[in-house]
Amino acid sequence: ASPSKPIRATLFPGDGIGPEIAESVKQVFNAAEVPIEWEEHFVADTVDPRTESFLTWESLESVRRNRVGLKGPMATPIGKGHRSLNLTLRKELGLYANVRPCHSLSGYKTRYDNVNLVTIRENTEGEYSGLEHQVVRGVVESLKIITRQASLRVAEYAFHYAKANGRQRVSAIHKANIMRKTDGLFLKCCREVAEKYPEITYEEVIIDNCCMMLVKNPSLFDVLVMPNLYGDIISDLCAGLIGGLGLTPSCNIGEGGIALAEAVHGSAPDIAGKNLANPTALLLSSVMMLRHLNLNDKADRIHNAILNTIAEGKYRTVDLGGTASTSDFTKALCDHL
Ligand code: NAD
Repeated sequence: ASPSKPIRATLFPGDGIGPEIAESVKQVFNAAEVPIEWEEHFVADTVDPRTESFLTWESLESVRRNRVGLKGPMATPIGKGHRSLNLTLRKELGLYANVRPCHSLSGYKTRYDNVNLVTIRENTEGEYSGLEHQVVRGVVESLKIITRQASLRVAEYAFHYAKANGRQRVSAIHKANIMRKTDGLFLKCCREVAEKYPEITYEEVIIDNCCMMLVKNPSLFDVLVMPNLYGDIISDLCAGLIGGLGLTPSCNIGEGGIALAEAVHGSAPDIAGKNLANPTALLLSSVMMLRHLNLNDKADRIHNAILNTIAEGKYRTVDLGGTASTSDFTKALCDHL
């Protein structure tokens, strides 16, 4: 077959272990002959006044132009006069939903064998609006902002995702019995959207009960949609169900159909530069990016190679109880391709 024009995608290798695991993705994409041309952008060491952060304006323009990208972990430097890198990305690119699939990996034993759920987190408001102040000495206040617009947008995405991926049920996670106005509005928006999708079962589950149900029997859930803070916590709980941070991918969905996939974990400074990191989370994130681009054959091939390499057990990284380095694991994966 004649090679078609490659698709341009932005790559942020990021900090710490980021460049090592990004290298692994590049090698695997080469081995699988994925028609992607990377536009690589590094975090700068000075603040760009146009973004007020260490992310360059050019790197954001690259994502806006390509509408698709892959991001390694970023460590926000401590100090004043700049914005957090992840917050800059969310705000500048309007990344309103964070999608985290959680599937058991065959061959890597955890307490449950059949976890298969997806959390969809509202990414722009709620308790993370950054509106905190001191009322008087000894009393502080934090504003939890919930808007109809952002709630409808994330609910719409959750139902769209469920339908597009053959999922049966969407659960809205909330605490509306206490947070009547904020979570109440969030639920009202979810109900409105649910009416447009009669083929999908809709339910509402209170967050504390949801945690108990998840750890007792994760197969009770399918797609979960929730406000920002609950999403942050529940998605980590779900990552724990399948074996931890080295394995969990995610994808941020933004305005105008932007998709920026990223591993859930951070820059792991304790193992950075030592060829010890598990690249699986970033690789599975890159698989999500390929599915977003409808490159499903390539996505399936890489996904299966990852599952087979881990299941075989010969080359596992240290976090999974093995002794393989990042490059040993990557080479084994490329051999599977
Ligand atoms: P972390 O996720 O970097 O590390 C937590 C633990 O998990 C460490 O022991 C680390 O070695 C291990 N780990 C993480 N990813 C791994 C992988 N792929 N393979 C093997 N082991 C892995 O969390 P942290 O230490 O709390 O944060 C470090 C830095 O990362 C901080 O600056 C933080 O702000 C940043 N961070 C960035 C993001 C992001 O960019 N989305 C997310 C979380 C944390």
